[in-house]
Amino acid sequence: MKFSNLKLTTPYLKLAPLFYEKVEPTPLHKPFIISTSQSAATLLGVDEDLALDEVLLAIVNGERKLEGSETFAMCYAGHQFTEFSGRLGDGRVLNLGKVNGQNLQLKGAGLTLYSRLGDGRAVLRSSIREYLMSEAMFGLGIVTSRALALIGSQTDVRREHLEKGAIVLRLSPTWVRFGTFEYLNAYGEHDKLKVLADYVIDESFPYLKGCEDMYLKMYTEIVKNTATTLAKWQSVGFNHGVMNTDNMSIDGRTIDYGPFAFLDDYDPNFVCNETDKQGMYSFSSQPKAARWNLDMLARVLSPILDYELSEEVLDDLYWSTYTKSCSEIMYKKMGLQTKQDEDKELLEALLRALASASIDYTEFFRKLSRFSGDKSEILASCVRRESLDAWLDRYSIRLEKEVLSESERHKKMLAVNPKYVLKNHILQEAIEKAEEHDFGMVNELLKVALAPFDEHPELEHLCKATPMDSKNIKLSCSS
Ligand code: AMP
Ligand code: MG
Repeated sequence: MKFSNLKLTTPYLKLAPLFYEKVEPTPLHKPFIISTSQSAATLLGVDEDLALDEVLLAIVNGERKLEGSETFAMCYAGHQFTEFSGRLGDGRVLNLGKVNGQNLQLKGAGLTLYSRLGDGRAVLRSSIREYLMSEAMFGLGIVTSRALALIGSQTDVRREHLEKGAIVLRLSPTWVRFGTFEYLNAYGEHDKLKVLADYVIDESFPYLKGCEDMYLKMYTEIVKNTATTLAKWQSVGFNHGVMNTDNMSIDGRTIDYGPFAFLDDYDPNFVCNETDKQGMYSFSSQPKAARWNLDMLARVLSPILDYELSEEVLDDLYWSTYTKSCSEIMYKKMGLQTKQDEDKELLEALLRALASASIDYTEFFRKLSRFSGDKSEILASCVRRESLDAWLDRYSIRLEKEVLSESERHKKMLAVNPKYVLKNHILQEAIEKAEEHDFGMVNELLKVALAPFDEHPELEHLCKATPMDSKNIKLSCSS
């Protein structure tokens, strides 16, 4: 299938006009394609090479439309750092419509009714980050929105200094957010809550349609999906940075990549977002922040779903789903196939040892995936060795209870412990090159992002150690 032959539908526009604004994109000046993800394109059934596709460029730049496409911005509200922010909405995103179960969006395509004081634009720097990170999270097996194309331009966009505007074509099976429900509730549109819930069930949970207690079951799915995604974030050391309810997808997928980071040295208190002075969304606070957001969702759903019932679901299922998923993943990362009573304590001891060792989280697990009793290689990467040294002794004894051979264990561990995660210092290097019109590194990063468990010997420079002065740095929200 050719990209230009896609036929879109716009089911969201069947909802009442208060859900969206129909608005035309504002094209960028002198646009050019920087990168395309063939992997994301296959989600649309597109199999042609898009790297030089003029039609794709014209569509992403809003100069041309696919058949059936109508452009619109979605309206939503949100709690930002626990404060209600009122109406937000897509201030710089335009929806194009839907095909093959994927809703297409252009991020950075111009002003909408919801732009408030913003300019409707996204700068190259933040667009590279969102584009690559969407594909990287997919590569890591984490449910996420995807990115199909990144275009650059000669349009000046003012942030702290002048930068260039860019647009990402991103895809998701849903763009409904917790904040979409909050918007309806806050503005007294209680009859529309049911309309939106029915839409969400159609779009994201069709198997619930017509069930008894349909809305409670919908909420249950949202709780379980969110808990599972959070377990995956924690297991790869991902810090999202802006877990406001407007950035929480209704189907639990990761969306809206801003000042995110992967942990360098393992530090549970790490905060990647410079504006998050209290550490509300610090690495270790993420699971409880997600639970807070789910509670907020339950409250705004209360006109159509008894709050006590949804709270019961949240209490019963959130932490239990999270903990189960987290330990399953972490035991796999540790290469433990059999279940032993001591494993929970062994994992807790590992996290304590990692925190005390000041060792890179990703590098540690990759090295552990080749551990055969010789501790020196791992310990050489630690600042403080004692606790990890002792832990490795304990781990060696624990491994004796395993049934797999060492090489089989290594193989399994290498398939779950990534070699490549997109560290900010590497992204920054790619951004600086891209700002000089060299996009080679963006495309190299896309390759490792999509296959992070493979070795890619020719791309080793993309997983080089974080320089001391770039370790666990905070990023600004400017984008
Ligand atoms: P974010 O922090 O990217 O999740 O954005 C929060 C809200 O601000 C959303 O409603 C965005 O659409 C809006 N927003 C962020 N940047 C801009 C911009 N440059 N122009 C218009 N709206 C923006
Ligand atoms: Mg957002």
